[in-house]
Amino acid sequence: MDLTKPGEELGTEEEFLKGTGTYLENEKICSLLLGEKKIEDRKMTVDRPYRYRNLHRGVLVFGRIEKVSDQMALASIIPIDQKIGRYPKTNDYASLHVSNVKQGFVDSLKNEVKIGDIIKAIVINVDIRKGQIEIATDKPNLGVVKAFCSKCRNILKKEDNTLVCEQCGFKDNRVISNDYRNLALK
Ligand SMILES: [Zn+2]
Repeated sequence: MDLTKPGEELGTEEEFLKGTGTYLENEKICSLLLGEKKIEDRKMTVDRPYRYRNLHRGVLVFGRIEKVSDQMALASIIPIDQKIGRYPKTNDYASLHVSNVKQGFVDSLKNEVKIGDIIKAIVINVDIRKGQIEIATDKPNLGVVKAFCSKCRNILKKEDNTLVCEQCGFKDNRVISNDYRNLALK
């Protein structure tokens, strides 16, 4: 992805018109942000890259846990596009740090999420330059909303504060969302 840098000169006022995401300095049109440059009818605009357009602090996302260590989990995320009301698929990965998984001390993330789990999370930081998205699950409605049995892959059922497999009887723990099995982004 070819990104403009904030302050980068994109052209002159003689050649182009100033659009969103740009500003004028000494008759030069400059970029306001790290983003994608576009020219339409002589109008110069700079947009956030598509993969980050709908992601900013406070947005709720679903994630599928792809990797877990004691300190960090990686989830592939699906942001909701509120304008068009659908869930565009992305290949974006967000990181969940052990300090953001729930209130109180957590010894290891491996006790809270497992590979294949679906989580509901909130975006707490987007750094376009580094390509990093950070998420948190430390609210009652956030956390694991769908989990599978480690023994037989059946979907686990929530019973009080644990998860139980109705097929083989296996019991497991997670950072369980109040919205377990509710796949709506609210
Ligand atoms: Zn099972």
